[in-house]
Amino acid sequence: MSQALENLLREERVFPPSEEFTAQANAKPGIHAEAASDYQAFWHKQALDRITWYTAPSETLDDSNPPFYKWFKDGELNLSYNCLDRHLDEHGDQVAYHWIGEPGDTRTLTYRDLARDVNKLANGLKSLGLEKGDRVAIYMGMIPELPVAMLACARLGLVHSVVFGGFSADALSSRILDAEARIVITQDGAWRGGNVVPLKDNTDEALQRTPGIEHSIVVKRTDHGVDMMDGRDIWWHELVEGQSDECEAEVLNAEDPLYILYTSGTTGKPKGIVHTQGGYLTGITTTHSHVFDLKPDSDVYWCAADIGWVTGHSYIVYGPLANRTTGVMYEGAPNYPELDRLWQIIDDYGVTIFYTAPTAIRAFMKWGDEHVDKHDLSSLRLIGTVGEPINPEAWMWYHEHVGRENCPIVDTWWQTETGGIMITPLPGVTATKPGSATVPFPGIAADVVDDDGNSVPLGGGGFLVITQPWPAMARTIYGDDQRYVDTYWSRFEGRYFPGDGCKRDEDGYFWLLGRVDDIMLVSGHNISTTEVESALVSHVAVAEAAVVGRADSVTGQAIAAFVTLRSTVVGDESLIEELRDHVSHSIGPIAKPRSIVFTGDLPKTRSGKIMRRLLKDISEHRQLGDVTTLANADIVAEITEKASEASED
Ligand code: ATP
Ligand code: MG
Repeated sequence: MSQALENLLREERVFPPSEEFTAQANAKPGIHAEAASDYQAFWHKQALDRITWYTAPSETLDDSNPPFYKWFKDGELNLSYNCLDRHLDEHGDQVAYHWIGEPGDTRTLTYRDLARDVNKLANGLKSLGLEKGDRVAIYMGMIPELPVAMLACARLGLVHSVVFGGFSADALSSRILDAEARIVITQDGAWRGGNVVPLKDNTDEALQRTPGIEHSIVVKRTDHGVDMMDGRDIWWHELVEGQSDECEAEVLNAEDPLYILYTSGTTGKPKGIVHTQGGYLTGITTTHSHVFDLKPDSDVYWCAADIGWVTGHSYIVYGPLANRTTGVMYEGAPNYPELDRLWQIIDDYGVTIFYTAPTAIRAFMKWGDEHVDKHDLSSLRLIGTVGEPINPEAWMWYHEHVGRENCPIVDTWWQTETGGIMITPLPGVTATKPGSATVPFPGIAADVVDDDGNSVPLGGGGFLVITQPWPAMARTIYGDDQRYVDTYWSRFEGRYFPGDGCKRDEDGYFWLLGRVDDIMLVSGHNISTTEVESALVSHVAVAEAAVVGRADSVTGQAIAAFVTLRSTVVGDESLIEELRDHVSHSIGPIAKPRSIVFTGDLPKTRSGKIMRRLLKDISEHRQLGDVTTLANADIVAEITEKASEASED
């Protein structure tokens, strides 16, 4: 960025918390200031209050070798003990997960059930000779055995690497090789949209290239018939049969690794992010309690992400279980068998807290209001989003149709690398503004800086940086300390650079503006994709939009827009003109798209994020690289064809 980022979008709507919500909220006003007065003391107190330690830490932060920070480094604990054992005496019969299979089968797992299953599997893993520090790849769908597998690893000090079940054999083998895993845990198949995803077949293909794998452990789920290789492949139910349901938890150091998780890959080659034990659990239990206002005795909490992403690690498994949450876990697609499956589940289970992604919200908008409106969602009391900037109009739709104008919305900014939520409203404390993740969580410090690292005054935009270490931060990229330093700690001396653009308004609220790599340069102005997209989505006809800067001999770059319309609207030439004018009027003529292409869908990563890099290649008529990593590769041909016919002014 040669100069500051333009601040185009103005949003005047403000939603203060209701008095009733504030009165009962976990996080009280004043918490930000209290934490800021001594952030290390704040985190140390959280660590002692929220975690059961074998040896309580005496030290908070070791910053002697930046950026390789250590937290609570003389503390000893076990995460599976914290998620399970310590709840059993008084709350063993509390439901940990209400699980709903896609075909309609259900399972209810209490904390006691979960502890039994974890211990049996842990004993099974021991019987295979696995030892503390060994890596275990987990390639599964959303079935209860997935958290069981993670917790069994955590119990023994094995380092898990969960690979999202929607990934291909190639993605699995490259992650297994990078993590040097000794075993892989998978299932015969997973249900998705009424079809069987052949996880075991994919694993077989991957294992042809991964000589280090000694065994695969296979859960029977779809029962559709798979090959089992003698000596290598073991059925899960046979491994745990006859195993004791007691298994001593390993005493682990706060800084021992817990897991490796590869980033979702929006910006290039995935990085194996390493998270550790004590700081991580401190960060995610604190945020889970304060951001979601979790009440263990009464809430029914549903984070509708996939456990294959960090959101699921932190806010389906470790944070919620350590906080003794009753959760909902759903196996399948949100549109199977009907477009209202999620709302049916909320209705059936009386879900009180619901957390999803903007990509899902935009899909709900596209499918039509009637699917959500016909359900009773009155049990909901708080809703949240994560994964991408949320367009203000999508925020309003979520507020009206899901929250029924009665639920605080927590728009949570964070990353795989941050481990837990970083910038977010605290319901009961923070007034929200549609499209803003609001302010840093207590104990987190962030700034917006220009190219030279100088703080940009309020009202301006630039690069987001995190200015002090935090407990749940990544410790490194697995096997590549130098890449960790280069990627996150070299751009701005002594500060963590997440790679996102951001602006702050006059109230000091943070507005995330997408990846800095995506920022467009039009006639000397740096324009964020997010603001132009949000202007497009604010038109009633539009459900979703992506824009990119396409090379242009006159203006440097010209804005090319790709737009998905709501289900009832038909796109024509006059709508293109109307949308171009709409953008021009709402945020300024400089941001008016040069071309607009209507498309039924946008290219997305497997985690549902828009792949702007690919749209840029299409717009500049470049040869497209490998598109098989996309969730919806077939849309690319359609967009390419339409883009070449698109009219320009
Ligand atoms: P890769 O790092 O491999 O390119 P990725 O960044 O998509 O993949 P994640 O760690 O899952 O992988 O995503 C984190 C990113 O998602 C953030 O850096 C940010 O760009 C975006 N993001 C997440 N939550 C929000 C939010 N509430 N508002 C705006 N952007 C968000
Ligand atoms: Mg990233």
